[in-house]
Amino acid sequence: MIHILTPDVYNRIAAGEVVDRPYSVVKELVENAIDAGATEIKIEIEGGGKKRIRITDNGCGIGKEDLKPAFLPHATSKLETAEDLMSVATLGFRGEAIASIASVSKMEIVSKTAAGEAWSLASEGGKMGEVTPAAGAGGTCVTVDDLFFNTPARLKFLKSDAQEEGDVTGMVSRFILSRPEISFTYLINGKVRYRSFGDGLKSAVAVVYGADVLDKCFEINADKHGIVLHGFLGNRNFYKPNRSYQSLFVNGRYVVNQTVALAVANAYKNYLMTRQYPFYILFLELPSEIVDVNVHPNKADVRFADNRIVYGSVYSVVSAVLDGSSGALEYVVPGAEAKNALTEPPRAEVKSTFSAGVPAQGRAKSVSAAPVSASAPRMSYAEAKKELQFDISPIGKTSVISHREQSPAVLEVRAPQTGETDYFEENRRQLLEQGRPKQEKIDPASLAFKGELFRTYLIYEAGDEAYLVDQHAAHERILYDRLRAKCESRAALSQPMLLPFILHTNGQEFAFLLKNLAILRSFGFEIEDFGDSFKISAVPVDLFGMDLDGFFGEVLSSMDTLRAIKLPDLLRDRLATMACKAAVKGGERLTEAEVRKLLEEMDGDMGIKCPHGRPACVRIRKSELEKLFKRIV
Ligand code: ADP
Ligand code: MG
Repeated sequence: MIHILTPDVYNRIAAGEVVDRPYSVVKELVENAIDAGATEIKIEIEGGGKKRIRITDNGCGIGKEDLKPAFLPHATSKLETAEDLMSVATLGFRGEAIASIASVSKMEIVSKTAAGEAWSLASEGGKMGEVTPAAGAGGTCVTVDDLFFNTPARLKFLKSDAQEEGDVTGMVSRFILSRPEISFTYLINGKVRYRSFGDGLKSAVAVVYGADVLDKCFEINADKHGIVLHGFLGNRNFYKPNRSYQSLFVNGRYVVNQTVALAVANAYKNYLMTRQYPFYILFLELPSEIVDVNVHPNKADVRFADNRIVYGSVYSVVSAVLDGSSGALEYVVPGAEAKNALTEPPRAEVKSTFSAGVPAQGRAKSVSAAPVSASAPRMSYAEAKKELQFDISPIGKTSVISHREQSPAVLEVRAPQTGETDYFEENRRQLLEQGRPKQEKIDPASLAFKGELFRTYLIYEAGDEAYLVDQHAAHERILYDRLRAKCESRAALSQPMLLPFILHTNGQEFAFLLKNLAILRSFGFEIEDFGDSFKISAVPVDLFGMDLDGFFGEVLSSMDTLRAIKLPDLLRDRLATMACKAAVKGGERLTEAEVRKLLEEMDGDMGIKCPHGRPACVRIRKSELEKLFKRIV
C-alpha cells in the first residue's frame, strides 16, 4: 500500500537530484524491481538510455489504486515513520524516483499484482493520464522514453550515447553481482549484452567478467567482530588499470565507500604498484543499526557508526589473505582457484612475506605454519589515516541528515558575475597584448648592461634609449611563458610526492573534478578518486612543493565560471602563475650570469609584461632625460 510520507519524515531524508543520467534512472528502477521481490528482471536500453529505458520484472506488482499515488512525490510503500529510517531493509525508501523520472520523461507503467488485473498509467513530463486496463503478465514494466525531453539544459549535459551506455552497463553489472540469485537480462539496442541465470555468485562473476577471472581470485568468507566479509579478491598478480573493476556491496547495496576502499588499497599496497588497481567484488554484511544508508541522495554511499572497526576488519582480512598469513586459511574458501592463488609465487619485484627459494608446494604448506608475525605489519586505521592524510570522522547513527543541501547535478552555464575574475577573458586579453607592435623587439646584442638600481631594476642602454627592466617581473613572465608552452605541448612531467595529498570535495566539486580527471592528468597530476575525495600522489614537476590546497581552492572556486570556459586554459594559467611565485623575487641581487641569461631569454623583447599585466620593462628616451634636465624643451 503506497502512502504519502508526512513532512516530518521526508524532511529527514537525504534528498536531492536523484535522476541526472540514464544510469541513475536504471539504478532507481532496478532497485524498485528488486524491492518488489522479482526473481527475473529485464533491462533494455536504446540510444544510451536517452531514447528508451525499459525495466520489466516479475515482482509483486502495483495495484490499480496504487498506480496514481506511485507517481506522486514522497509516495512509498517502504517507509512510514522516522524510526523506520533506522532499519531500512529495502533499497528504496525515499518515494522520489518514480515522481522525478516521470517529470522529465514520457513514462508508462504497466503492472499486475497476483490478485488483480493488469493496469496501465502513462505520464508525459509528469502530467498523468488515466488508469486504463492493459494486458500483462504478473509484475511491472516501466518504460521511460525521451529522457529530459522537456529539460533541454539537462539533455545537453548528457554524455555521448556510447558513454551513457557504458555507465548503464557498469551499473547493471553491479546489480548482476549484488543479486546473484536474480536472473537478469540486459539488452542494448535489442542485443543481449548480459544474461545471468540467478544461480549464484560465481556464475554471476563469470557473466560479467568471464569465467577465467575466477582462477585469478581468492574466494573469501570471513566473520570479524560480527562483520561478515565475503566475495572475491584478485590475487597478487591480478590487477586492473583503474577502479572500475572494484565493487563493494554493503548489506546488498552497491556503494562507493572510502573507508573500505582505503582498507583494501592499503592491504594491496605491498603487491601493486601505482596505477595498478586491485580487482575485487566484496560483500560487507553488518548489523543495520551501525550502517546509515540515508546519507546520499543517490544512496551511493553509506556511513558506518565506527569507521575504525570497519577499516580494521577489512584491512586485516584482506591483508591476511594476500600475505598468506595463518589467518588466511580461516578466510579463504577452499577451492581449486583459491589453492592456485595461495600457492602462486609472488611477483619478484614486490615485497613479499614468502621467503624466496621455497618451492611452490612447500610454500602452500608454510602458509598454515607461518606465524602471524611473519606477515606484513598491520597498518592501523590511525596510521593509514595519517599516512594518507585521510580524515574520516566517525558519525553516530543518530545523525540522520535532515534534508541535506545538495545542488542539482545539472550543470548550468553561468556567465561570471561582476567583480569575479573571468580567467578566459583575462587570457584572451593577455594573448591580444602579446600581439603588440613588433618595433618593441630589439636586437639583444645592441643592449649594453649599465648596472642595477634598488636591487630590482636592471639598466640597459641601446643607442638613444635606456631600458629599465624589473627583474622580478621579467623573470616571472619568462617562466610563465615557458611553463605555459610546456603545458601546451603536453610535456608536463610528474613528480611523485612523499605523502599523497587528499583533497576533500563536496558532491558538486567531486563531479566537476571527476569529469576533468583526464585533463588534470595530462598536466602531470597523478590523481585518483576516493569515494568523495581525491588522492593526489604526484604533481607537475615544476610545481613540486606547491600549495595544493590553495591551487585547488582557486580552481574549484572558479568552477561556476569554468562551465563557460575551458579548464585547460585556466589550469595553464594557474599553473604558470603558481610557478611564477617561485621566480626570483625583486630585491634579490642577480649575478652577472643570471642577468645575461635573463636578457637572452627575453630575446630583446622589451615590451613584455609580467603575468599579472604589470610591465616588465620601461623605455626611457635620451630626449626625455634631456627634457628633465631642461637641456631641451
Ligand atoms: P521508493 O522506492 O523510495 O518507495 P519510488 O518512487 O521508487 O519510491 O517508488 C514508489 C512506490 O512505487 C514504491 O514504494 C512501490 O510501492 C511502488 N513501485 C515502484 N516500482 C515498483 C515495481 N517495479 N514493482 C512494484 N512496486 C513498485
Ligand atoms: Mg525506488
